[in-house]
Amino acid sequence: MGVFDVVAKEGYEQILYGYDEVSGLKAIIAIHSTALGPALGGTRFFPYESEEEALHDVLRLAKGMTYKAAAAGLDLGGGKAVIIGDPREDKGERLFRAYGRIVDSLQGRYITAEDVGTTTNDMDIVRRETRWALGSSVALGGSGDPSPVTARGLYAATRAVAQKLWGDTDLAGRRFAVQGVGKVGSAFVQLLVEHRAEVVVTDAYEPAIESAVETYGVKPVDPNEIYEVDCDFFSPCALGAGLNETTIPKLGCRAIVGSANNQLATDEDADRLAARGILYAPDFVVNAGGLINVYDELHGYSKTRAMHRVDSIFDATLKILETAEEHGINPNQAALKVADDRIRDIGDLRRFRRSGEDRN
Ligand code: NAD
Repeated sequence: MGVFDVVAKEGYEQILYGYDEVSGLKAIIAIHSTALGPALGGTRFFPYESEEEALHDVLRLAKGMTYKAAAAGLDLGGGKAVIIGDPREDKGERLFRAYGRIVDSLQGRYITAEDVGTTTNDMDIVRRETRWALGSSVALGGSGDPSPVTARGLYAATRAVAQKLWGDTDLAGRRFAVQGVGKVGSAFVQLLVEHRAEVVVTDAYEPAIESAVETYGVKPVDPNEIYEVDCDFFSPCALGAGLNETTIPKLGCRAIVGSANNQLATDEDADRLAARGILYAPDFVVNAGGLINVYDELHGYSKTRAMHRVDSIFDATLKILETAEEHGINPNQAALKVADDRIRDIGDLRRFRRSGEDRN
């Protein structure tokens, strides 16, 4: 396959390969779309087995960001970057500064932030070479760790689902099964417990379960048993592809709201859930809190404004569930439709040039 075929087929705008011999930097930046604004997406630092695998991942992730930003109603496009390497061994100031210069060369068409394998400290270094790096530490005027904010967005989405199912947003007494109590999962559990929900948790890492049980007084279950828990909400907050042909028949929940990216193993799994009468709130809509938070840094970070926007995930979720009902499609298809409609309708406005526009 020719080098342009893969990008042309999926409508990507640009791919940039960055290399620095001294630090060993090998980075790929993919810009999927700038129809709604600059392409914002984090930098993943990962020991990919091959360059093809890295390219495949960055393309998939960049496209996902376009849809996440559009569904959240942000003036942002979608992009992502990967750095090939082991984050425990290959990081260094030279590498991140070289990377920062490459990001800077795009003059804001791509804006980076932290992702798997990169931290706020790394973004602080990248920022020394470019202003197009967000998610730096609070001390430097950044928005800091996005996880508690992502959890807040999940909470808003959960209330919207409760409104749709039972005509009442109150979660007191509702039963939750939370899979993965890492940074987002544990912050979500805290919010649920504060609002008097009943919570069962699991994690692949035993100390994480112990910590949640001790801190929040929740009940533990074995990782293999979490799907079958009889509950109102199943909340996947661990890894992707957890909802599949094998797990869906086991589910004992009425609805799904969780932070994990790419929860559905395939598109058909959204139909499998619908056939079982389980209401699925699409992952890229409900987990947008972290993105919304970091986006606010573009306007000089205001926590109040960012939290206000994050709480609007309630409306975004409700709109998607209503669109699904109205068009007789599943919520995942509805979320893609809402995002596509916005990209077309609002993206089209960019024909009307304004002075200073796109300089951002
Ligand atoms: P994390 O690494 O802090 O937590 C993940 C937890 O899941 C860990 O405790 C891990 O032990 C556990 N886990 C892994 N495999 C498991 C399994 N099979 N069963 C049960 N537990 C398992 O990560 P995080 O930052 O809390 O993110 C959680 C998910 O949400 C990820 O998929 C991430 O991509 C997504 N997400 C996170 C943010 C954010 O703001 N951090 C934003 C959007 C999406």
